[in-house]
Amino acid sequence: MKIAIIGVGSVGSAVATAVKNTGLAHEIVLFDRDGIRARAAAEDLGHASAFSYDIKITAVSTYRPIKNSDVVIVAAGANQKPGETRMDLLHKNAEVISDIIPRVMANVDNKNVKIIIVTNPLDVMVMLAQKLSKLPANRVIGTGTMLDSARLKIILSRQLGVSTRSISSYVLGEHGDSSVVNWSSVYVGGIALDDFCKQAKISLPQTTRNTIEHRVKNAAYEIIQGRGATWDGIGAAVADLLYAIVHDEKRILTTSIVDGVGKNAVAMSLPRIIGVNGVSMNLRPKMNSAESNALRKSAKIIRKNFDLL
Ligand code: NAD
Repeated sequence: MKIAIIGVGSVGSAVATAVKNTGLAHEIVLFDRDGIRARAAAEDLGHASAFSYDIKITAVSTYRPIKNSDVVIVAAGANQKPGETRMDLLHKNAEVISDIIPRVMANVDNKNVKIIIVTNPLDVMVMLAQKLSKLPANRVIGTGTMLDSARLKIILSRQLGVSTRSISSYVLGEHGDSSVVNWSSVYVGGIALDDFCKQAKISLPQTTRNTIEHRVKNAAYEIIQGRGATWDGIGAAVADLLYAIVHDEKRILTTSIVDGVGKNAVAMSLPRIIGVNGVSMNLRPKMNSAESNALRKSAKIIRKNFDLL
């Protein structure tokens, strides 16, 4: 399995480390427009690989060596500065995606390659990458709300005293400020959340749910405030998505792909079945009317921003 990572800053490096640690790839190729940074990352990761799996890690200065990559991960572009929203990066990062995708497509096998988009604003960048690559929508996959769903799961796990592995919970819509916590589809050990709370004698009133939503939506802002950027969580999310693809797991992950046609097409996160061909099915989880309305609003925000490009 050959993986190319485009953009080797904080996120690209964390992605490379997480992917290396899965042992899935025999080769990782790193490209960054800052060649010195890419070479340094390849050196450092190469040394780290002596403690895990044999893997060839190289920095490249042109796109030609990404040939035969099975998956190309795009983590290039500006990140949020404290106080900035993801959508504030729209025009800057649209330029980056417009630079990268045609060069990628000129060098990979368009019948096989899958592209994973990490760059923000995630959903709009997925739409742009899919349009520029002309690949089928199921093979241009954004990590979407995988990270937001993980954050929700962790908070719920602590609140309910149950392992994250026994909780099924999704954040839907934009990977951004209009994301939607899908309370109606939270299950704990196969039991609907409200029933679980009754059995466990746990109170989860609306005020607590509002606080949880706030924490999920603001997690990135808080990490950026304290650490300058976020990288470990997204590195793990990309490695997990890659694992589901490579092992043809048919696992359900909240990823973002373009769905719909013409003016109605939009990329946003829904639970989707992931396997070796990318997304094989889009699912619509149970939603109450407030959640459905919020999801529609989120889709409109993404589409409106795509139309600004
Ligand atoms: P960073 O500044 O540390 O690194 C960005 C890298 O991209 C730099 O090394 C830069 O040289 C490179 N780059 C810029 N333009 C390029 C181009 N045209 N071609 C090749 N390389 C180019 O930023 P970061 O913290 O690594 O963040 C990268 C992106 O990931 C940002 O857009 C950020 O918002 C996003 N991000 C997404 C998630 C998510 O959940 N999807 C999470 C965290 C960060």
